[in-house]
Amino acid sequence: NKSSSSNFIRHIVVDDLQSGRVQEVVTRFPPEPNGYLHIGHAKSICLNFELADEFKGRTNLRFDDTNPLKEDTEYVEAIQEDVKWLGFQWDELRFASDYFEEMYNRAVLLIKKGKAYVCDLTAEQMREMRGTLTEPGKESPGRNRSVEDNLDLFARMRAGEFKDGEFVLRAKMDMASPNISLRDPVLYRIAHTHHHRTGDDWCIYPMYDYAHPLGDAIEGITHSICTLEFEDHRPLYDWVISECEMEATPRQYEFARLNVTNTIMSKRYLKQLVDEGVVDGWDDPRMPTISGMRRRGYTPEALRTFCREIGVAKSNSVVDERNLEFFIREDLKLKAPRTMAVLKPLKVVITNYPEGQTEWLDAENNSENEEMGMRQIPFSREIYIEQDDFMESPPKKYFRLFPGNEVRLKHAYFITCQDVVKDEDGNVVELHCTYDPETKSGSGFTGRKVKGTIHWVDASAAVPAQFRLLEPLIIDEAQEEGKSFLEKINPASLVVEHGYVEPNMAETKGGDKYQFFRHGYFNVDPKDSDGEMLVFNRIVSLKSSFNP
Ligand code: ATP
Ligand code: MG
Ligand code: MG
Repeated sequence: NKSSSSNFIRHIVVDDLQSGRVQEVVTRFPPEPNGYLHIGHAKSICLNFELADEFKGRTNLRFDDTNPLKEDTEYVEAIQEDVKWLGFQWDELRFASDYFEEMYNRAVLLIKKGKAYVCDLTAEQMREMRGTLTEPGKESPGRNRSVEDNLDLFARMRAGEFKDGEFVLRAKMDMASPNISLRDPVLYRIAHTHHHRTGDDWCIYPMYDYAHPLGDAIEGITHSICTLEFEDHRPLYDWVISECEMEATPRQYEFARLNVTNTIMSKRYLKQLVDEGVVDGWDDPRMPTISGMRRRGYTPEALRTFCREIGVAKSNSVVDERNLEFFIREDLKLKAPRTMAVLKPLKVVITNYPEGQTEWLDAENNSENEEMGMRQIPFSREIYIEQDDFMESPPKKYFRLFPGNEVRLKHAYFITCQDVVKDEDGNVVELHCTYDPETKSGSGFTGRKVKGTIHWVDASAAVPAQFRLLEPLIIDEAQEEGKSFLEKINPASLVVEHGYVEPNMAETKGGDKYQFFRHGYFNVDPKDSDGEMLVFNRIVSLKSSFNP
């Protein structure tokens, strides 16, 4: 059920279709190509595409490329890849810059109607004269310029006669409006900047508040969904559509942006992490970008379910990151094969097992999903277990290996620890154990019980691997309040271990996902894994006390 959670925008769409205000739902996802998409964008993508899909409508992908200084084709391409990977196909691919000529012509129309004027105040003067919540703004001297002079100046702005900042085009609205965004907002600015699509054709660029409603109207968007910060701008949105005499009348609806605990949700900060080398690029598996989450091993299905299940809110709140982790486990539970990996190896010699012999043991690939079948794993005299699964002098209730204790090796035999081998510094480097052939897994042995089951890999056949254990990039708890962004960076966001995986994993490829017994879900890193070294990113650990 696509709409089990509350989604007030969906109700609006249903009403609009029923009342006949619209015949078809048309939405758009409008990213600015100034960075990679993050999980907040995923929320907006899911909302826009799923609304249209549910009612057999259409969704455009429109790049809001009106600020050439920060934009780049690298981002244009990455964004398309990310939207497709999330599982959506846009109806049309558009760019705000496709409409620069039409937007210019509509601005000329506004000037002719006396609804826009060229203003020569500096940015600072404009800010000072805008007024405050309690104080009305002051009118710009340019406000009373004649239509002829405005037309002439605007044409010369376009022709490149002026420097950046010398003039702007402003809407003639209301300098005394209680809504500050209606106090003669800027519609065009001069920027002698090369644009990644229009090159040097333009040296004036429309502002978001002007370009966005026009783009929506040109494309016949019916429901233009944006985040709450734009609520005050809605009257301006409607003003632009109506004063520019657009045929279509799209409407703007605002919802609360997604925030997630311990997660940076601003391209500016994410870019800072990339530029300062805190992370290994936009797709670092710790990044909350779509490309980072993909590399980490999050699935599009889990992200879509998360976005749908958290609902669409009208006021800002923060979603617990464990919510997302829950949906990832749910998605991978039945899909990911379960195998054994030893992250911090400790060699175990099974002294009563014949030298030079290897036997193949049967193991199910997913105990909760029989369809995933069985595999065979080798077992011989030397194996690796986890360093943490042995303690020389254990506390009470420690059921794993210690001198004299017997445990079960998953899919294999019971072993008992007989001897501990140490190096000169007293570190445990090897264990000598004995096994009991009677206790073979699957043999039906019931002679005695053991309390601990540990995992292992065969030492001679195991494949070396690197494991990356990932934690949040920033810690944003209450006690951190007042700290700057860079001070909140978690120094332990990446821990690398070198260990072993089962031999049948030699053939895995980037993006393959596994559940490692007791360690959680892991993804084969598609960038750093090669013939030399298998690299796994931990997607999520196995357990959480948290249920959304
Ligand atoms: P940022 O502040 O991270 O740079 P942005 O809003 O400037 O984000 P855009 O590329 O302009 O980034 O966003 C494209 C679309 O994604 C917009 O419609 C915007 O409302 C939406 N969006 C961005 N961040 C979020 C979020 N955290 N939750 C929901 N929607 C978001
Ligand atoms: Mg932005
Ligand atoms: Mg934006």
